[in-house]
Amino acid sequence: MTMTTPNLIVPKRSRAIAADLRAQLGSEKVKDDRPTITAYAVDASIYRVEPQAVVIAESEEDIAKTIRYAVTHGIPLTPRAAGTNLTGSAVGSGIILETSRLNRILEVNHEEKWARVQPGIVLAELNRQLARDGLLFGPDPSSSDMCKLGGMLANNSSGPHTLKYGSVKDNVHSLRMCLASEAWMDARSYELDDPALERLLTSIPALRDIFVLVQAHADLINSKKPTVSKSSCGYNLFGLADGLAVGRLDLPKLFVGSEGTLGVVSEATIRLVEKPRDTVTGLIHFRRLEDVGDAVPQLLELQPSALEIMDANTLNLIGRSRHGIPADAAATLLIELDGDSLDGDLRKRAERMSSQCRSFNLASSVALAYDQEQRDQLWKARKALYPTLYRYDPRKKPINFVDDVVVRAERISELIHYLETFFDGQQVPVSIFGHIGNGNAHVLPLLDVNDSNDFNKMVQAYHEIHSVVLDRFGGSICGEHGDGRVRAEYVRTMFGEELYDVFVQVKQALDPANVLNPGIKISDRPFTEDIDYTRLSKSCATCAKCNSVCPVYDVEQSEDMSARGWFEILTAKDYSYLNAKRVVESCLNCKSCRTICPAGVDVSDLILQKRAEHPNRLAGWIFRFQAAGVGFDAVLRFLGATQRFWDRPSVRRIIESLTKPLLSRLAPTASLPQELILPTLAARQLRDRYRNLIPAESGTVSSGGVAYFHGCAANYFDDGVGDAVINVLRAHGVEPALPPQRCSGTPIQTYGHQALAREGAQFNLQSLAPYDTIVTGCASCTLMLKDYVTMFPDGEDRRQAEQLAKKVVHITEFVARSSQQPPMGQAAGRTQCVTYHSSCHLRAAGVTKEPRQLLASLPGVNFADMPDADRCAGGAGTFIVKDYKTSQQIFERKARAVDQVGADVVATSCPACMIQLKNGLGARTSVKHVAQLLDEAYHAAEPRQES
Ligand SMILES: Cc1cc2nc3c(=O)[nH]c(=O)nc-3n(C[C@H](O)[C@H](O)[C@H](O)COP(=O)(O)OP(=O)(O)OC[C@H]3O[C@@H](n4cnc5c(N)ncnc54)[C@H](O)[C@@H]3O)c2cc1C
Ligand code: SF4
Ligand code: SF4
Repeated sequence: MTMTTPNLIVPKRSRAIAADLRAQLGSEKVKDDRPTITAYAVDASIYRVEPQAVVIAESEEDIAKTIRYAVTHGIPLTPRAAGTNLTGSAVGSGIILETSRLNRILEVNHEEKWARVQPGIVLAELNRQLARDGLLFGPDPSSSDMCKLGGMLANNSSGPHTLKYGSVKDNVHSLRMCLASEAWMDARSYELDDPALERLLTSIPALRDIFVLVQAHADLINSKKPTVSKSSCGYNLFGLADGLAVGRLDLPKLFVGSEGTLGVVSEATIRLVEKPRDTVTGLIHFRRLEDVGDAVPQLLELQPSALEIMDANTLNLIGRSRHGIPADAAATLLIELDGDSLDGDLRKRAERMSSQCRSFNLASSVALAYDQEQRDQLWKARKALYPTLYRYDPRKKPINFVDDVVVRAERISELIHYLETFFDGQQVPVSIFGHIGNGNAHVLPLLDVNDSNDFNKMVQAYHEIHSVVLDRFGGSICGEHGDGRVRAEYVRTMFGEELYDVFVQVKQALDPANVLNPGIKISDRPFTEDIDYTRLSKSCATCAKCNSVCPVYDVEQSEDMSARGWFEILTAKDYSYLNAKRVVESCLNCKSCRTICPAGVDVSDLILQKRAEHPNRLAGWIFRFQAAGVGFDAVLRFLGATQRFWDRPSVRRIIESLTKPLLSRLAPTASLPQELILPTLAARQLRDRYRNLIPAESGTVSSGGVAYFHGCAANYFDDGVGDAVINVLRAHGVEPALPPQRCSGTPIQTYGHQALAREGAQFNLQSLAPYDTIVTGCASCTLMLKDYVTMFPDGEDRRQAEQLAKKVVHITEFVARSSQQPPMGQAAGRTQCVTYHSSCHLRAAGVTKEPRQLLASLPGVNFADMPDADRCAGGAGTFIVKDYKTSQQIFERKARAVDQVGADVVATSCPACMIQLKNGLGARTSVKHVAQLLDEAYHAAEPRQES
């Protein structure tokens, strides 16, 4: 009997779904407002499907209730983790069950090397925590910074290191699952004569049906088993049949790779391995593609942990010169070898590899990277390939539709040759890269799907390439990304009618109402349905890299509160500030999204543009008052002189309640909480203390020389930063000038006052023009001064802004480049552990190494890089006042990192971050600007004055 593929349920639009769910789960956990629906309509695939409601699950009970509701009412339910799949499997027309808040490691067994974890944990986070004990979860999709365990399990993901560790299916002991029948089960591998299995099969009859089905069709299943090294196509009945052959019912094999169509995972027990002690990464540039085919078997003999390829087109598209790739390289291989120590076998294997490669026609000698930073650089380009391709053309985008084919490893160059010829014939640029050691090629043609010609080419390529991979190469259409919406149409062709019918019976047994992720994996719908044509003409690849650094997403774990979600919301046709105010006003303007985005998208700027349409009136009034001059400074001087009277708990309580109504005009959440440790305001501001450095006052206005752009914080706060910067400059033989200056503009822009920010920029451009070098001590000022170019499209202002951008250096850059190196001494009585919080705006300005290098060079300092050093601390200028609660939630991660590294001192490069760090760390850790530590070290080297 031929089984029909279950029909897709498409619910009618109804607010009732969210209302019902709210009644059951509480209003906090259910969202159906317009921004949320827009944000959850996409994942990293080419599709767009709007859900009816989103449930943010926080417990197993939430999962069970949501499934019960979906099954009872026949509403599609799509589980979701990070939404980085490339197949459309985390978007759906009914309820999205967001599992990201279930993100804890529940247990780690070091002896037996396993861990019990929840589905919402990010892979990189999991491995960072395991690394402390020298352990690792092996499968590593290139999306490891963003993707979460739930998605990896559901997709049977793998990655560059599959060669050594296998796919997810090879690394799972058991899963805790909630089925459509509402039954909870422990999906592990059972001996067939285990009484526990009999009990399980009795309590869940659907499982017995599947057991019987697989037994009955064992021959068919075995005959259709893919013969390539990895495949995530269809249901893994092959793994079940293999288990039965040795007397086991290996249930994880059934559920891993089932893409949320058979049940929802709430917990997994995963197999861990020992983290390799040492690793060498090599880059090999081949002049001829044919040589790659010969080299691969030889390189595999060295037992690499990873072997990756990028073809010539890929190298062109990502920019050869940017990545130091020779012009005549026809393909580049990235190889990784692991070992216990560099001194032993590993170095020898690396040398053997280099000498083996010499027999091929290489475009340059093999580049070997031994230290982590260099290795990270080599991997960086590879890992960001897909979104990087978004930069190539405003209309032609890399389209994932034949993206995951697998052949036998020794036939990979034959496959690449075929693909290049095919796309050449279509006159379509294509990027081919992937896990060559496994014969797994990611194929990304660049197409404008809104152009009918390109659209037709896509459909033709889909059918032709998949059929060639199956018929000529005996391969698989899907190695690791899953079938989702994009390959569901072809699963039947891959396995034939008979086995496909068995798949359908498995689905029907466990999900008779076809509620769990319908349209995914087992579906006859053409892959062209639900393509997001509008989005595919935009600049964002929806890869979610930005979410992995967005501090708001880190706290909220909800797509409508994330950088990627905000891009979607702000660029939607039906965007309105009124509807989206909640999300538009939540961004910290930390710029982390801009820094990391491989596609060159600046979500923070998009948000600023939208805010500029509704500037905040109270903030505007304050900034205008400040720009007007002396009055503002005088008020702050007065507050500084009287701080010891008003900055006491009893008075602060009154101030908190008195200022609340006024601050609510900044944001509904704004307040000046009494517990917030305020910076000490200077009664004598920096410019009062260093009058002799102010050109107009000292009569020393001259061209050339060094100006210190101190910004607001160093002037108004008595935090020692301004004095330290001046002292450090003097130690380097420079007497800086303090030319007139206005706020650099970051906070002004943040509250939507673009015109006022531009006005201040023009003032600063004029004032700073005479100087050769502009030194800053504040991260935000550094970035803003460099960014003035973005404010002025043309004209004299533009020219001056371009000049200024070249002249601005942070004090740490200045010192690192200085030809004078003053002697340094040990400032503290004992060796201190110093760590570094890397301020977001300084990272955005490209200054990351210098502060660390300087700190590491200080005498008596044991410098330790802390985990999450590059993450926002949550202060973000005035965000700490705008939303104190969220700012503190963001800070929790930073506090954990500081504790973990056991630092005596946290150094940073920004006075604004210092406020947040001092407030969050209290007395337990000292917080200093890098300039202060330098100043102390120079001072300690000075000869002591005899008393
Ligand atoms: C730049 C980039 C590079 C990539 N590189 C690789 C790579 O090298 N290798 C690779 O394999 N993949 C890669 N991918 C694809 C993707 O990252 C992986 O498939 C990833 O494992 C998906 O995880 P996720 O958390 O984003 O899952 P999602 O996209 O949220 O979901 C994926 C599937 O899992 C299901 N699901 C999620 N949570 C649960 C749950 N709790 N219970 C049941 N089902 C659930 C969803 O319904 C969906 O079917 C890449 C993607 C990008 C954008
Ligand atoms: S903005 Fe950039 S990083 Fe974020 S999802 Fe889009 S392409 Fe990826
Ligand atoms: S600027 Fe920061 S808070 Fe705003 S979207 Fe980007 S990463 Fe998120």
